[in-house]
Amino acid sequence: MGNIVVTGGSGLVGKSLKKYLPNAVYLSSKDFDLTTENGVKNMYETYKPNVVIHLAAKVGGIIDNINKPAEYFTENILMNTLLVEYAKKYGVKRFVGILSTCIFPDVSNEYPMKEESLHLGPPTETNFSYGYAKRSLAVQIDAYNKQYGTKYQYLTPCNLYGLDDKDGENNSHFITALIKKIFDAKQKNENKITLYGDGSPLRQFMYSDDFAKIIYDVIDKEIYESFNVASFENLSIKEMSEIALKSCGGEHLEIIWDNTKPNGQYRKDVSIEKLKSLLPEFNPIPLSDGIKLVYKNYYDKVS
Ligand code: NAP
Repeated sequence: MGNIVVTGGSGLVGKSLKKYLPNAVYLSSKDFDLTTENGVKNMYETYKPNVVIHLAAKVGGIIDNINKPAEYFTENILMNTLLVEYAKKYGVKRFVGILSTCIFPDVSNEYPMKEESLHLGPPTETNFSYGYAKRSLAVQIDAYNKQYGTKYQYLTPCNLYGLDDKDGENNSHFITALIKKIFDAKQKNENKITLYGDGSPLRQFMYSDDFAKIIYDVIDKEIYESFNVASFENLSIKEMSEIALKSCGGEHLEIIWDNTKPNGQYRKDVSIEKLKSLLPEFNPIPLSDGIKLVYKNYYDKVS
């Protein structure tokens, strides 16, 4: 596989990927600031990678995206643009960029959305700038492949959750925030939890280790195509919350829906036909099992 560098190696996906690619170099923002040209050049000069798995991004929840749209745009677009440009300049053989299904059109004529639908409408308002910054990575990679003959690719995963997700008030993802709320309510002997919106939006969620396995597989099996990655389940937030209550022993908790908070995009489910044709053995764990693992991990950490 050669010399592999993983940007964003200290994040949720990076920590999962380390289980499959333990010998790669895992970088964080403390090693190099990849929003700067110097940071990116130094990184390539230091490690001279053959393979770059680019996970680094400014990633956050809906409220943080609403409050800081400029940061979400500029940090992501700078990192992506510089990393791909210098990958080409330094002769990097493989570059795997990571998009997100939340950058797909807010509304589509067809669900689940296929890879070709990416540019058929603007991203949802609540992560508009993140969405366009991330979409530009797809445009850039396709353009470089066309003009320079590189074989770079991007994977577009659905929402992720896992053992190492952030659990801050404004920057955690839904499943992690939900598990933390259930845990806290149980600890404090409360009888309810409050969740944002009305519970109607549909989401695909995948355990981050399952996504990491797919990144490993594309490198290991020399797959160069770009494709969507999602679980088999497309559930409403309400259904997921009920699964989480059961999986965390919180069936007694009532859910209060806070309708003053935004729902976010109604649905963004993507087709995984291409993924299944490239990796027929793909078999992600069900949401209930993943939630149990994260809950136990959280419980062990704080108890
Ligand atoms: P994460 O946990 O938020 O980690 C982000 C990583 O990026 C960290 O390692 C962080 O370093 C690094 N980073 C941020 N700013 C940087 C900078 N200026 N210079 C260098 N490194 C920087 O992200 P994740 O959840 O693992 O996501 C990985 C990828 O998957 C991202 O591209 C994301 O857009 C995509 N994705 C994530 C989800 C999800 O639900 N999590 C869903 C779909 C797609 P520090 O630790 O030092 O801050």
